[in-house]
Amino acid sequence: MDNQETPKAKKKTLKFKAEVAQLLDIVVNSLYTDREIFIRELISNASDALEKMRHLSLTKSEITGSDIPLEIRIESDEDSGTFAITDTGIGMTFDEAGTNLGTIAHSGSKEFIKKLSEGGEMDMSLIGQFGVGFYSAFMVSERVTVQTRSWEPAATGAIWSSEGKGSFNLREAEGITRGARILLTLKEDAKEFANADRIKDIIHKYSNFVPFPIFVNDDQVNTVGALWTKSKNEISDEDYKGFYQFVGNAHDDPTYRLHFAADAPLSIRAVLFVPGSNIEKMGLGKMDPGVHLYCRKVLIQSQAPDLLPEFFRFFRGVVDSEDIPLNISRETMQDSALIAKLRRVITKRLIKFLESEAKDDAEKFNKFFAEFGIMIKEGVWSDMEYRADLAKLLRFTSSKTEGDGLTSLDEYIERMPEDQKDIYYVLGGNRATIEAGPYLEAFRARDIEVLYLFDNADDFVMTSLREYEGKKLVPADQADIELPGEAKEEEDQPEEKLEEKDAGDLARWVKEALGEAIEEVRVSKRLVKSPAVLVNPDTMFTTGMQRVMQAVSKDSIPMSKMILEINPSHPILVHLNSLRLANPNDDFAKEASRLLLDNARISAGLAVDPRDMVERGNAILEHALKGMVDSK
Ligand code: ADP
Repeated sequence: MDNQETPKAKKKTLKFKAEVAQLLDIVVNSLYTDREIFIRELISNASDALEKMRHLSLTKSEITGSDIPLEIRIESDEDSGTFAITDTGIGMTFDEAGTNLGTIAHSGSKEFIKKLSEGGEMDMSLIGQFGVGFYSAFMVSERVTVQTRSWEPAATGAIWSSEGKGSFNLREAEGITRGARILLTLKEDAKEFANADRIKDIIHKYSNFVPFPIFVNDDQVNTVGALWTKSKNEISDEDYKGFYQFVGNAHDDPTYRLHFAADAPLSIRAVLFVPGSNIEKMGLGKMDPGVHLYCRKVLIQSQAPDLLPEFFRFFRGVVDSEDIPLNISRETMQDSALIAKLRRVITKRLIKFLESEAKDDAEKFNKFFAEFGIMIKEGVWSDMEYRADLAKLLRFTSSKTEGDGLTSLDEYIERMPEDQKDIYYVLGGNRATIEAGPYLEAFRARDIEVLYLFDNADDFVMTSLREYEGKKLVPADQADIELPGEAKEEEDQPEEKLEEKDAGDLARWVKEALGEAIEEVRVSKRLVKSPAVLVNPDTMFTTGMQRVMQAVSKDSIPMSKMILEINPSHPILVHLNSLRLANPNDDFAKEASRLLLDNARISAGLAVDPRDMVERGNAILEHALKGMVDSK
C-alpha cells in the first residue's frame, strides 16, 4: 500500500486511557501459554467489521469500495517475523481509530482487567468476551500497526501504531483501501506465529466458522457457510462445538444445543447453545446477551438485546429470520411488534426445550441448574409473562432428596399425600442447619416433604410465584399453619408436660417479660423437640425479606410482628414455669425468657444483638454453675 501523507494531514500521539494502559501492561509482560488466541481475536474483529459491511452494502447507496470482495487475508513472513491480517470490512475513520483503539467501551472489561491485575484465577482467553480482544495482539508483538479506511465516502485513511507502552501514534494517510490491516512485528519468542501451517491450525481450531473466506498466504483455509441453514445430519458434534465457540466467543464445551427451524408463525432458523459454565459466577457483573440476529444470513444485530428476555442472557448462538426487515434500527427493534413476537416464539421454544432435556437426563439438568438456575429464578421473580412456564424448570433440595439430588415442583406434587393442599418450604443456610432447626419438626412428625431454600433471594422467588398448579407455596414458619395428617408419637416422650392452663399462663407471663420485643407469645402445637420457635403471621413481609433488610441495615428496619411459640413439653419451659410460680418477678426467669427469644431469632436466621446475647448467656452460665456447686 502506498501511504502518502498529505501536507495538512492530522497527526498526533495520544496516551492510552488508564484501563487500557493497565491491561497492556499485563498483556505485554504476560507469560501466558495460550498466546495463539490473539489470532482468534483479530479474525473475530475482522469478521465483525465484515458483517457490518455486508449489512451496510444492502442498506446504503454510497460506500467506498463497494465492489471489493468481503474477505480476510493473512500474510506472514518468517524471515522478517511479521504477521498481517487484512479485512475489507467497514474500517475506521481517523477519529474512530483514536477512540476504538485507545479506550474501552465495554462495561464488564474494567472488572476483568482488575481481576487480571490482581493475578487471580482469571483466564486471559476470556479477553474477547470483555470487549478488549484487540489488545491481545500485544502478547506477541513488539509493535502493532493498523492501517485503516472507513466505508464512509468522505473519510481518508488512518494509520495507528503502538508498542503498547502507554501511548500510540495516529496519523491520516492517503492510498489505503477500505477496511483494516493489522500488522504485527512479532516478538523474538513469538516468531512461530509467522509460520503458515501454525496459523492455519489455529484458524481451524478457533475460527472455522467465520462466515467470510479466510486466506493464509493465498490459500483459503475455512469452510464458509451459515451452519444454521444446513440440515442437522450434515453437521457433526465437532462442527457444533466449533460454531458455539466462535459465535459465543467461548472456549468451553456447550451444555445443551438446540437447532431448530420453523415456518409459522414466523420463519426461523436457529442454533442456540447453553454454555458450559456461568461466567457471572466469577463476580464480573451481568453478562451481555449472546444471540446474534440474522436475516437471510446477513447480520442484523450482534448480541441482540431484545431477542430474548433478560433472564435468558446466557444463551449463545444465532437466530435467522426472513421476516425481519434489513433496515430495522436499534431503536425500532426495541418496540417492534415483530421482534416481540419473535422473542415470544423463541423463548417458549427454549423453555420447552429445557423441560424436555430435564426429562431426558435429570442429572445433567441439575448440573445445568447449578450453573444457570439463578437466572431461571430471576425470570420467575422478574418476568410475569414467563413466570408460570419457568416455574416448571425450578429445582430444589428437599427433605426427601438425597446428596446432590434435586426435585421439581411437579415431582413434589406427585409425592404429596392426598390431603395435603399446599407446598411447603423453609429457608436456611444449608441442609444441616435446616434439619437441626425447629421449623422442620412438625413436618417431619407428619412425614410431609419440605423444600429447602438456601438463598434469601429464593424466598423472593416463592413469594412472587405464590402458587404452582393451584397449590399455594407456604413458608414453614407461617403462623397458624394447618398441617394435614396426624403427628406420629415421639419415641421418647417427655417426662413432664405443662397442663393447658399452666402453659397458657406461662405464655402470657413470657410475653410480659419480653414486652415490646415480641408481638405475641403462644403455646405451640407444632414443636416436638425445640423449646421455642418464631413464626410469622405476615404473609407479605416474609422472614426471608426481613433477613434481607436486616442485612442491608441492622438498625433502621423494624421487625415485623413475629409470634413466639413455646413448647409446653420442653424441660426449659417446665422449669421456667416452676420459677414463675415461685416468684412472678424472678429476674433470672425473665433473663432466661429473653435468651429463649434470642435463640429462636437465630434459628429463624434473624439478627440479634451479639453483646446482649453474650452477656445474657454469661449471666445464665454463672447461675447454672453456682447452682451445681451449691448442690454438691
Ligand atoms: P471489541 O471488538 O470486543 O469491541 P476490541 O478491543 O477487540 O473490542 O476492539 C475495539 C474496537 O475497535 C471494536 O469495537 C471496533 O470498533 C474496532 N475495531 C477493531 N478491529 C477492527 C477492524 N478490523 N475493523 C474495524 N474496526 C475494528
